Amino acid sequence: MTDLARLVREIAAEMAGIPERGEVASYIAPLAAVDPSRFGLCVVTAEGEVHLAGDALEPFSIQSISKVFALTQALGKVGEALWQRVGREPSGTAFNSIVQLEREQGIPRNPFINAGALVVADVNLAGHAPRVAIGELLRFVRHLADDDGIAIDEPVARAEQATGFRNIALANYMKAFGNIRHPPELTLGVYFHQCAIAMNCLQLAMAGRYLMHGGLLQPGGARIVSSRRARRINALMLTCGHYDASGDFAFRVGLPGKSGVGGGILAIAPGRASIAVWSPGLNANGNSQIGTLALERLAEATGWSVFGAA
Ligand code: GLU
Repeated sequence: MTDLARLVREIAAEMAGIPERGEVASYIAPLAAVDPSRFGLCVVTAEGEVHLAGDALEPFSIQSISKVFALTQALGKVGEALWQRVGREPSGTAFNSIVQLEREQGIPRNPFINAGALVVADVNLAGHAPRVAIGELLRFVRHLADDDGIAIDEPVARAEQATGFRNIALANYMKAFGNIRHPPELTLGVYFHQCAIAMNCLQLAMAGRYLMHGGLLQPGGARIVSSRRARRINALMLTCGHYDASGDFAFRVGLPGKSGVGGGILAIAPGRASIAVWSPGLNANGNSQIGTLALERLAEATGWSVFGAA
C-alpha cells in the first residue's frame, strides 16, 4: 500500500470515531433524514491513482458544490461578461443573505453565494427551456466525472422548490434590479434542480480533475477550460467557497474548496489531487464539520496547502 492509500484509510478511521459531528441540514426532509455517522473520502491524484475510504460510493446531495460546475458552464457561454452581473469578492455574510444586494444594486458579491448562483443559473438558462438547461449541466457533470450514472434526486428538487422562500425572494429582488432576465420561477427551477444533483465522493473527485489539471480533463486529454480560467475558478473557491467561513477554511486547510449543505466538500490541490469528502453533519457556518477536519488532516500530512509545504 502506498503512503497516500494508508493515509486516506487512517483519516477515515479517525473520523469514524469522532462523536461530535455537527448538525445535519434540516430545512428539507430528505436531508434531515441522512445518517450523521456517514463519512466518505476520495482522493484522485494527478497521476490518476484513486483512493477511496468509508462511504465514498454512497450518493449524497451535492447542493452548493453544483455552483462550481454551473459557474464553469456560464463562463463557457458568456465569458468575462459574466462579471458585469456578479462580483468576485468574499461576501462576509451568510450564504442566503439578501442585505448586500440592496447596497450593491442587485449585483451579488460572488457566484458561490445563493444570489450569485441564481444569476449564474439565469445565464445558463438563456435560449433554453429550464429542462434543457438543467439537462445540459447534468451532461457536463457526467462528462467531467466520466460517469453517466449521475442523476438528479427529484424528491430533493421538489423539496427545495417547496421550501425555498429565501431563494425565491433573492431571485425576485434581483429581478427588480434587472439582474435576473427570465421569469424568476424559471431561473429558480434550474437552481433548485442543480442543487439536487446526487453524486458520490468518487464521482465528485473525478469531476474536479479539470481544476487540478489546469483545465484539462486529464493530462493530454480534452480541454474543458483554459488554464487561466481553471486558476481563476480555483481562486474563487479559495476565497468564496465556504461562505463567510472561507477564511477559516483557507487557514485550516489551505486549498480551494467548495462546500454544500449536504455535507460534501470538493477540494483541489492544483497539480496534485482532486479530493471529495462527505460527512453530513454541519458546523455553525453550514459547512461539513468532519469533512473539514478530514481535509485539514490530509493537507497537513501531504503538504498540499497552496500556501506552502508542510
Ligand atoms: N439548496 C440550498 C439553498 O439554496 C443550498 C445551500 C448550500 O448547499 O449551501 O439554500
